[in-house]
Amino acid sequence: MNCAWREYDEQRKDLRLSELHRCVLCKATWMSGDAVDCLIIGGGPAGLTAAIYAARFRLRVCLIDAGQSRAALIPLTRNHAGFPEGISGVALLERMREQAQKWGAALRGGAIHSLARRGGGFVATWADGEVAARAVLMATGLTSHRPDMSDDVHLAALAAGCFRYCPVCDGFEVMDQDVAVIGTGARGAKEALFLRSFTDRVTLIAPNGAHVLDADERRALADAAVVLANGPLEAMALAPSGLRLQFGRATKVFECVYPALGATVHSDLAARLGAAVTAEGCLKVDAHQRTSADGLYAAGDVVIGLDQISHAMGEAGVAATTIRNNLPARRPLLR
Ligand SMILES: Cc1cc2nc3c(=O)[nH]c(=O)nc-3n(C[C@H](O)[C@H](O)[C@H](O)COP(=O)(O)OP(=O)(O)OC[C@H]3O[C@@H](n4cnc5c(N)ncnc54)[C@H](O)[C@@H]3O)c2cc1C
Repeated sequence: MNCAWREYDEQRKDLRLSELHRCVLCKATWMSGDAVDCLIIGGGPAGLTAAIYAARFRLRVCLIDAGQSRAALIPLTRNHAGFPEGISGVALLERMREQAQKWGAALRGGAIHSLARRGGGFVATWADGEVAARAVLMATGLTSHRPDMSDDVHLAALAAGCFRYCPVCDGFEVMDQDVAVIGTGARGAKEALFLRSFTDRVTLIAPNGAHVLDADERRALADAAVVLANGPLEAMALAPSGLRLQFGRATKVFECVYPALGATVHSDLAARLGAAVTAEGCLKVDAHQRTSADGLYAAGDVVIGLDQISHAMGEAGVAATTIRNNLPARRPLLR
């Protein structure tokens, strides 16, 4: 017989964490005030994959998500395996949430404000109070920096496919288009050169004024016939055939624009507990997704690696399995 830690009353959508959970199959109960086996912070592809695995390992799992998954910005992903016609990020997340809840993961909306050690585990604080946990998975992702543009223009441009973040994901879609990359330095040069394999019309626009490129970067860009344009980038507006950019003394419509401006990695909660981070702020993990802080794991974009759904899911599966395998030392997992 399976044992899923389901909500005691599924009709009560406002169920709070201090209330009773009951397995619909074996009828065993646990109070949410008890420590959960695994607290997952973040409900994007990484967090939700971990929730599915952990719930099916019969762990008491609680996922708390601030609702800003980068996946939710994907109009249609065409490189995610298993969906030959593509799937929107919102639809994919919805399917994953349904799957995690089906196996008994408790999913909650909100932001974790602090994470501290308590006893042999952790206590996390959020708007609804505290959650005690034996292990914590950081699946908090990152936020890409974007040029100065209103939320309305940003969302409309993403939906129209004339503003994109990820050439690994969707460079194929800009084949032979007139493309601008907003950036400079090593990051800007790398992105522009990557896009050259899809189109021979790539312009690299320095966001703040003159380009900051070393001799090797300039040579590589010149060899690939990437056009260099100085900024500053003054304005961006939707146009019938793309985005109109005003930069330096020029105005031009590009069919697609990619920002290469870096990102804020959401690793603070873990870093404050002593978990090691890279210079970019990504959490360092071992082959089992363990951070350098005992009992604290990480998966997805918050970890250095290929920022892709498939990678986030793979890391999350490894993390959840490691958490499960380490748990018997803290709570016997016997049927
Ligand atoms: C426009 C766009 C298109 C993309 N297209 C593709 C594609 O086609 N194919 C592909 O493979 N990848 C694509 N990606 C990349 C993909 O979206 C990411 O790699 C993926 O979402 C990473 O998953 P994640 O779970 O690590 O992070 P996220 O999906 O970003 O989820 C992290 C979650 O953690 C939450 N969180 C952060 N801090 C806290 C906190 N303190 N408390 C609670 N919750 C918190 C956030 O609110 C967020 O919901 C695209 C990205 C963008 C922006």
